[in-house]
Amino acid sequence: MNILVANLGSTSFKFRLFRFDGAGEASLLAKGGYERVSNQGQAIEDCLAELRAAGHLRTTADVHGVGFKAVLGKDLTGCVPADDRAIAALEGMREIAPAHNPAYAEGIRRFREKLPGVPLVALFETAFYQWLPAAATRYAVPEAWYRAGVRRYGFHGASHKFIAERAAELLGRDDIAERVRGLYQAGPAPVAAGRPPLRVISCHLGGSSSVAGMRDGVAVGSSMGLSPQSGLPHNNRVGDLDSAAVPFVMKTLGLSLAETERQMTKEGGLLGLSGVSNDLRDIRAAAEKGDARAQLALDVLVHSARHWIGALFFALNGADALVFTAGIGENNPGLRAAICADLDQLGLVLDPVKNAATRAEGEISAAGSKVRVFVIPANEELVVARETRRSILAQQSN
Ligand code: ADP
Repeated sequence: MNILVANLGSTSFKFRLFRFDGAGEASLLAKGGYERVSNQGQAIEDCLAELRAAGHLRTTADVHGVGFKAVLGKDLTGCVPADDRAIAALEGMREIAPAHNPAYAEGIRRFREKLPGVPLVALFETAFYQWLPAAATRYAVPEAWYRAGVRRYGFHGASHKFIAERAAELLGRDDIAERVRGLYQAGPAPVAAGRPPLRVISCHLGGSSSVAGMRDGVAVGSSMGLSPQSGLPHNNRVGDLDSAAVPFVMKTLGLSLAETERQMTKEGGLLGLSGVSNDLRDIRAAAEKGDARAQLALDVLVHSARHWIGALFFALNGADALVFTAGIGENNPGLRAAICADLDQLGLVLDPVKNAATRAEGEISAAGSKVRVFVIPANEELVVARETRRSILAQQSN
């Protein structure tokens, strides 16, 4: 079975094609993408033509399903058919995820035209958090705000789910890895496993960043709340901010709401802090040359990551593993060392040599560290492909 995974932004179109064998093992056949996309229908045609030319598809009938890593929907989550209901749910939350929801709604419509009859599946990033306790999802807002959708959701679900699964395998807990697979299917929260609970904290540090905690593969909390603007500072998005800041700058700096929103999403985060770049490589280079603002941006990222790791450490009653993933997490040993500094009293000690050398999958904690620390490359598309296949097989057997 061939599953195409579409990762859509307001002007970008990225794809990966996976092939599943009879036993359900996936291999990545191709990946690619286009920037400055103004016409998604054209991008879909280009992608299919590219996959045919490379010999991965004979005809478009060889695409057996398309999976979308959708962000969040109004009153809808999980792994669901990408149909009119999913489009309406995406449209209903477009104000919260303006760079992604309209792109996914449009992408689903165009795929429907270009691949009629092919099952389309939307996997909402929020689905991983569907069993969070109410106390972890509520803001102290008036009831009408809550009913309108103002609550904590959590994002990067596919990435953290992959970490939950892979970390369980690396820790020899195949029982948990098995249980994490399929966790997106709606239903009651999975019951606790019989053995001691597996406590994993996943630190996704990339263009956007979040920390999530998982007990036996089930999320117990996330640094992200209502929108992907929250939690840690992102590349150019602010992260956590006191809600009083918005009316304050509007009144004192004379900013319109639209301009305030633009600055919070385009001129905040690591870019706003450093004044140098939204890319950690540039910021690090500037900091190494003595740029104080660049160093401050790194320090704020470390401080925020430690804050959230600490919160989840408490929620989980400790941790068996801390995992770094995504572009920054996989490639910046110095930042990992700063995040893990002075935690020996909590049972976490890095091995500096392993840490400095690791940019692919590997363990970076010292022998004897009670909390084991790993780098695991992000693989969210694989999660989307697997769940899409599972959902299609389930529909076919009904
Ligand atoms: P996204 O969240 O957009 O998918 P990524 O996970 O690719 O982004 O992360 C992008 C970030 O990762 C950038 O800040 C970039 O500087 C950082 N990064 C990527 N590769 C490297 C590298 N080789 N060395 C240092 N930082 C890197």
